[in-house]
Amino acid sequence: MAIAMAAFTLAFLGWLNESWLYLYESPIWLNRFTEYAIILVFGLWRIRAEQNPYTRKRLIILVTVVTAFWWLIPWLSPIFEPYTGYVWSQPVFPALHTPGTLTFFLSLLLVFLFGRRIICGFGCPCVGIRETVGFPFRRFSLRGDWAWRLRYSKWFFFIWYMGVMVATQFPPNAWTATLVGLFGLVVGITYFGSFFIIPITGNRFYCRYLCPYGATFGLLNHAGFYGIEMDTQRCIDCQRCEQVCDMGIPVWRQGKMTGKVTGLEDCMGCARCIISCPTDALAIRDVRNLFRPSLRQDASYLLKRKQIASEPRIEPAHRPCV
Ligand code: SF4
Ligand code: SF4
Repeated sequence: MAIAMAAFTLAFLGWLNESWLYLYESPIWLNRFTEYAIILVFGLWRIRAEQNPYTRKRLIILVTVVTAFWWLIPWLSPIFEPYTGYVWSQPVFPALHTPGTLTFFLSLLLVFLFGRRIICGFGCPCVGIRETVGFPFRRFSLRGDWAWRLRYSKWFFFIWYMGVMVATQFPPNAWTATLVGLFGLVVGITYFGSFFIIPITGNRFYCRYLCPYGATFGLLNHAGFYGIEMDTQRCIDCQRCEQVCDMGIPVWRQGKMTGKVTGLEDCMGCARCIISCPTDALAIRDVRNLFRPSLRQDASYLLKRKQIASEPRIEPAHRPCV
């Protein structure tokens, strides 16, 4: 935990130096690439330590994508993408998430088709640092009814983000520049500042309550082909699925009530709930199920093991009270 907090502090100092201090220039240390170097180092450690083959595979993809697409490619050979918003000498908000970049729309399409917040689970540095460096703090994740209700806070940041997307399509003025500039500042402060409350909130506080991009992908989870279904006949009520969800989704409760996870806007697609289910009761679906309706992406499928035979659930006979 001490090493993790030191790494979080270094990533924070990198952002602070690049954004405010401008004290020290280097290709890696103390700039925005510092975070990605930390993800690579801790990622290798986490991959080696991970026992579950599916999570290990996901971590390998996550760390590789962050290293290649967020660090090495932009650092070694910057690609200037066509910008479809207002072009007036320079876009107002030049960043990878600038509305109008091709990667942004491609990401939205992929999330629509495959959901699972394909960015969050497999390619987001925010999840990357929280899954690798933040791993020792998983058990402090906030759970329970009030923690679940607080999730609505992210919609404030989502609405602000929508405002920024609209504003950047028009010539900038003092109001829109302030709106966009403040948004960048608030995202930076909450993103890096939330590192320091992880020991009391668990590693996913930012993703659950503050991330405007996660909220966007969450809406696409609902609109697109993604889903998590529960075969309630197979469920033995062990509640493991609920205990392993770092996003605090009441997976078991929602599954028992409706036969599926209804809080999809919060699901980042890690599939921990699926692979933790001992009876294959949970299964993911995405666009592939449109073409292969019989495909069942349950724990056995994801972990490449023999399917568990479905046994009919037998309730004990009721005895009268005596
Ligand atoms: S892990 Fe599987 S069996 Fe256990 S409560 Fe969740 S769905 Fe049911
Ligand atoms: S554990 Fe399941 S419900 Fe929770 S975020 Fe991961 S995939 Fe979604």
